[in-house]
Amino acid sequence: MFPAQQNIRLRGHHLICLHFFDGEGYDLEFVTNLSKVVERAKSGEEIEICTGADDVCRQCPHLKRERCSYDENSDNEIRKMDRKAIKLLRLSAHGKLKWLEIRDKIPGIIKEWADTYCGACEWRNACRKVLRGSIYGNEATGSRF
Ligand code: SF4
Repeated sequence: MFPAQQNIRLRGHHLICLHFFDGEGYDLEFVTNLSKVVERAKSGEEIEICTGADDVCRQCPHLKRERCSYDENSDNEIRKMDRKAIKLLRLSAHGKLKWLEIRDKIPGIIKEWADTYCGACEWRNACRKVLRGSIYGNEATGSRF
């Protein structure tokens, strides 16, 4: 018998950024895993908010000993970003919710999020493609997207 599948576990900033995923990522393993996580979330599976490495980080080439090693300060910076995302979305760490509940909150927070983080993010061009023509488009007008 197979063990029961656990909830999807996502850290704060992934609750926002995954809505703009368009099939790009660090390598094939990362993208394959991320696609599956997004598919499960969109199918209505419950999402558990976590701190630190999550189900996306698990297959990331930058995860080293449970820390984000993208650059020297990234683990601390990304944890700060996670906290900001949770606050903006008015959620609580370790809470549980569904993809659509998060999606409904994105239009109201995307401008502030983009102004704070997206200008310096290497994935902004990938996100921009999704943003165009999406339900988030108008709200992000004028932001650093
Ligand atoms: S770069 Fe860091 S935060 Fe992003 S998926 Fe990789 S380990 Fe996680």
